Amino acid sequence: MYKMMTPGPTMTAPSVMEARSREFGNPDTDLTFCEEYHALCGELAGLLHTKNEAYILGGEGILALEAACASLTEPGDRVLVIDNGIFGKGFADFVKIYGGEPVLYTVDYHRPVDVEELAEYLEKDHDFKYATVVHCDTPSGVLNDIASICPLLKRHGILTVVDAVASMFGEEVRVDDWQIDIVCGGSQKALSAPPGLAFVTVSGDAMTAMEQRKSPIASFYCNLLTFKNYYRDKWFPYTMPISDIYGMREAVSLVKQDAGRIERHRRVAAAVRKAVEAAGLSLYLEEGSASTVTVVRVPDGLTDEAIIGGMLADYQVLISGCFDVLKGKVIRLGHMGNNANEDDVAEMLFALTGTLNKLGFSCQCDMGEKFKSYF
Ligand SMILES: *Cc1c(COP(=O)(O)O)cnc(C)c1O
Repeated sequence: MYKMMTPGPTMTAPSVMEARSREFGNPDTDLTFCEEYHALCGELAGLLHTKNEAYILGGEGILALEAACASLTEPGDRVLVIDNGIFGKGFADFVKIYGGEPVLYTVDYHRPVDVEELAEYLEKDHDFKYATVVHCDTPSGVLNDIASICPLLKRHGILTVVDAVASMFGEEVRVDDWQIDIVCGGSQKALSAPPGLAFVTVSGDAMTAMEQRKSPIASFYCNLLTFKNYYRDKWFPYTMPISDIYGMREAVSLVKQDAGRIERHRRVAAAVRKAVEAAGLSLYLEEGSASTVTVVRVPDGLTDEAIIGGMLADYQVLISGCFDVLKGKVIRLGHMGNNANEDDVAEMLFALTGTLNKLGFSCQCDMGEKFKSYF
């Protein structure tokens, strides 16, 4: 097996895989499961610093994004889609599918959203039911200042949906302090469980907006209201993927025990950026990198495929390319969750150095060595 240094999925701890292989009961009829699910949602909410209810959904991270839009959007609703990255822009599709009118606020993809400029824009137009924004937009690796953006939107009476799939647990996410109405997460990023689960926390304001809709939510699987009374009624809208949830419970417990994780992500990410630049490569972003992924331009004359394929064949290390407007232009080095450790990241950078040298781009240093020198 290769070392999976992608910006999701990430490598999982053996204890997470063991938890997934446990014997299980019937999650629909076994009340113990309902208690376990409820307790896990409580732990998740605690890690995200919120008193809001958390819900774990049976589906990959994208389900959380779609469920937030499906549950909030009514036909004709204007929705502000904050777009400084591929996932940011992608929210417009979900808004449209459910009959809303996405209004794109498109700014430079090479840096975080400028909060002052957004504030000026909102002075002129703030007639939006909700806004969508991505915390870490993984294709570019940019980290938006949602701590400022969400309270600004709330001051204008706009609900906030935040995609924190690629940031949470590698970056601080404080849902209540930052007034996030719906935050979206997934199991396969910095939580380091396999892909398969999405989760959200839902504020009282967001719940009220769903309940006061004039038209019904145009989905069953994406309807967050169906979860509202699950604990009181001991009823789930569909059979919960119990083994995935057992794995996630172990992953959450590992995250809880790992108090230094945010600082470690920050240190690792800063050292990766310095090593990459010391080798003569250039970063995609001009500023505002997240601590979970580093996005590097493909050097002139080389292809992403040759670099990724070379690293896999010669070193058994897998990194990612990109898609959409960044397809072929960048490679992405993942260092989130379990992967955010000195040894694995050094091995990835050693492999990248060797591969680039072999392909004819002479690195000005061994990035693995350079990276280690910062610790
Ligand atoms: C990974 C990720 C998701 C989940 O989507 P997949 O592409 O299906 O893994 C959503 N948002 C962001 C920012 C992500 O990085």
